[in-house]
Amino acid sequence: MSASQNKYGFIKTELRNRRKLSRFRRLRQAAPLSGPEIRVDGKALTNFCNNDYLGLSQHPLVKQRAAEYIAAYGAGSTASRLICGNIEAFARIEEKLAGLKKNPAALLFSTGFQANVSIIPALADRQTLICSDRLNHNSLIQGIRLARCQVRVYRHNDTAHLEEILQAHQGQGFSRILIVAESVFSMDGDRSDLDALEALAEAYEALLVVDDAHATGVLGDRGMGLTAGRQMDAAIGTFGKAAGSFGAYLSGSRELKEYMINCCSGLIYSTALPPAVLGAVDAALELIPGMEKERRELQEKAAWLRGRLHENGWETTDSTTQIVPVIAGSEENVLELSRFLEENGILATAIRPPTVPEGSARIRISLTALHSWAHLEKLVAAFAGWAGRR
Ligand SMILES: *Cc1c(COP(=O)(O)O)cnc(C)c1O
Repeated sequence: MSASQNKYGFIKTELRNRRKLSRFRRLRQAAPLSGPEIRVDGKALTNFCNNDYLGLSQHPLVKQRAAEYIAAYGAGSTASRLICGNIEAFARIEEKLAGLKKNPAALLFSTGFQANVSIIPALADRQTLICSDRLNHNSLIQGIRLARCQVRVYRHNDTAHLEEILQAHQGQGFSRILIVAESVFSMDGDRSDLDALEALAEAYEALLVVDDAHATGVLGDRGMGLTAGRQMDAAIGTFGKAAGSFGAYLSGSRELKEYMINCCSGLIYSTALPPAVLGAVDAALELIPGMEKERRELQEKAAWLRGRLHENGWETTDSTTQIVPVIAGSEENVLELSRFLEENGILATAIRPPTVPEGSARIRISLTALHSWAHLEKLVAAFAGWAGRR
């Protein structure tokens, strides 16, 4: 067989394997309806899997500001920020953001994924040691791989294990040490002990990098994330989740910002965020500090939901946030459960290995300010229906 007949073999093999293991992913057509309702492949469902925690993606001010920025600046930013794409709105938003985070400086990035895959390699060199939480998001893992240095993975949220690793690697000639964690973990909805991480970073002179993606807008001082007001070396967050639109940020010292402008490939070699996104981010940063009521209700609803699920015998890991994982165990179980929920009008994602450890396949529920108590009752009833059915 010639090479040209063969060269696509790996694609066929991989797709066949994935179908066999029921791990074949396909894109479904989605259209937002009103509130938390969504139409997916033609069917109206209540959405329990989006990250629009404050409902800002549909907020009139956010939509209006995005439209105003298009009218004022155009559809695109025309180049990277270092060339000529750095329209005046960047400086204004970065200043506002730094003030809210109580850090000296902030720097906008295009996406959280791009920020993580380029900030971490910029901070590390080949002689660096990176200590990474076992449950870190894929974008952090990819960034760590791109750093091409030594990596030690510590058990999830186990700061004693992290300290063991730091101790064992003391005085071994590493150029520097990075500790990388999330503030709220995306698959478990639990939180890092930031006090402990900060103390370890200080004791071992390590740089602390914290991804605040799921806390930005939702938790912390004025909703600005659990890193707000702290002296992290680098706090990273996204505007694609609770901020309702798109884009990401780094906050930290002025020198860190200057360093990234000079050394971070994801910032240097990529087109600047478009005006519409900057408008949406600008409006979101105006709204988020005043949304205490939404944040309080969101946490009340999450606590209520966890309580009801526990009463019915479900496990929700160590979640203490708006992300509520419901453990289903095996992969077959979680797939059936997610189909059952959908038949009952509920859209919730099944999360399976290797994204989560074997045996802990789960339905990941994310609550938003748009969910009413009636929506939650409907969700609890659907889970109860599944248990009753068997
Ligand atoms: C969603 C997410 C990202 C990626 O952010 P985007 O702006 O969507 O690219 C990064 N880190 C964590 C922890 C996330 O959950």
